[in-house]
Amino acid sequence: MLGQMMTQPLLISSLIDHADRYHGRTEIFSVETNGTVTETSWAQVAENARKLASALTKLGLEPQARIGTLAWNNRRHLEIYYATSGAGFVCHTVNPRLFPEQLTYIMNHAQDRVLFFDATFIPLVAALHDQLPEVQHFVLMGPRSEDAIAQIPDVQFYDDLFETGEASFQWPSFDENTASGLCYTSGTTGHPKGVLYSHRSTVLHSFGSNTRDVVGYSAMDVVMPVVPMFHVNAWGSPYACAMSGSRMVLPGPGLHGDALVELIDTYGVTLAMGVPTIWQGLLACAEQSGSKLASLQRTVIGGAACPPSMIETFRETYGVDTIHAWGMSEMSPLGTANHPLARHLTLPLDEQHKIRESQGRPCYGVELKIVDDDGNDLPHDGVTQGDLLVRGPWVLDSYFQMQDEELLQDGWFATGDVATLDPDGYMTIRDRSKDIIKSGGEWISSVELENIAVAHPKLASAAVVGVPHPKWDERPLLVAVRAEGENPTEQEVLAFYDGKIAKWQVPDKVVFVDALPLNATGKILKRKLRADFENTLNA
Ligand code: ADP
Repeated sequence: MLGQMMTQPLLISSLIDHADRYHGRTEIFSVETNGTVTETSWAQVAENARKLASALTKLGLEPQARIGTLAWNNRRHLEIYYATSGAGFVCHTVNPRLFPEQLTYIMNHAQDRVLFFDATFIPLVAALHDQLPEVQHFVLMGPRSEDAIAQIPDVQFYDDLFETGEASFQWPSFDENTASGLCYTSGTTGHPKGVLYSHRSTVLHSFGSNTRDVVGYSAMDVVMPVVPMFHVNAWGSPYACAMSGSRMVLPGPGLHGDALVELIDTYGVTLAMGVPTIWQGLLACAEQSGSKLASLQRTVIGGAACPPSMIETFRETYGVDTIHAWGMSEMSPLGTANHPLARHLTLPLDEQHKIRESQGRPCYGVELKIVDDDGNDLPHDGVTQGDLLVRGPWVLDSYFQMQDEELLQDGWFATGDVATLDPDGYMTIRDRSKDIIKSGGEWISSVELENIAVAHPKLASAAVVGVPHPKWDERPLLVAVRAEGENPTEQEVLAFYDGKIAKWQVPDKVVFVDALPLNATGKILKRKLRADFENTLNA
């Protein structure tokens, strides 16, 4: 016997319809590429998305045509998110920080038919134009620009294209399993691979991230996704915020600490999200400017391990609760988020704080397990570490156009992370499997060593990599950036490890550098550090 309830497909268009109907007057502030700020609303975004969807439909593209974007977090990008998926096309956000060869590979592999881009990327698009034979429409996200025409003769303009559509456009209905969005992972080895989201997975992910013990966006919040909309859909916030009717602040191209502090203070941001490297800059600027970040209540920090010292600074200096979260493109991306359990509230404060340091627990919709090299399940005892496997309705099944490759292990996706799980499901990422340091048969977590180093008051940032060693195969090397105006010695830095970890885990050496190399998503490029310092301990 079947249940007798309505079957409505879970479509992305239903999210914007909801925001339009019940949160229509709620503001969206958008920093445009030219630096001006536009104030719009969910109703306006919804109307513009319908108009753009209508215009795109008139272009005669095939169903599920991929529509690429090279764009910052701004209101046109938000409209494109809804217009493309809502009309039955696939929103393909492309990370403009990738190398030109990677960009052309990705856009050709995806067969993008339309490419929307911000003014920042006019020179980039002009350079790539002739290598993108599949793209039929190059659309600058803005009004007519002579500068763009001079560089890209067949360029079209968003503000003109959009005027060819009708706001009375009705969202089509189709199977909720239809593809809605596409993101390529940075691909540290081999070619980037595409993760193809569906309407169903995106809506379920929004429900999941909207639960209170994950992010729990609210109509009371002013949400600032600093994580780019070109990186795993800004962690799904454009969808989840429409579902909850949150106000949004879209920070545009300026991701420098000063600009972010000003946005927080001007628009009363209550909830901000991003990778640790972004908050490092923001905290330094807040300290300099004397801002108390008064409106900010919560930060969601993930994408790389959030150092406990950062959680502490947010808590002690600014009264901000940090939700340490973990996920990946292949998981839409949310996997776990750190919140306490009721029984933790009776523990001494320092124990409560310790619990908040890990990557947290999975919400409904995500299952986690750890296994050994032979795929055997390992205990969830908080100590044993193993390869982390996941499954759930917003976890990928296969990569785009690689359906033939058997990716899953008995229905589970191997994340490439090494983790421990405790009996309550709190997960601690020990490392990415390729970053873990294997010293004489023992494993050393680079994350743990980095967390200690960045808490050193005389260091600005730090990374630990394993480098070849004649006796131990690999030993940890600390690559550190000194804090401004400080000049710590190697001994001073290494002494900071005393009593915090076992002696054999302490890095063998410290190398000071001016800056750490970052990848296109703001994460430290450990591969480059390993290559640069390969012979440091072998010599
Ligand atoms: P990539 O940057 O490799 O293309 P993602 O952006 O999807 O891919 O990154 C996913 C990876 O980032 C995870 O597998 C994990 O290694 C790392 N990561 C994400 N969040 C955290 C976190 N909170 N702590 C530690 N590592 C994290």
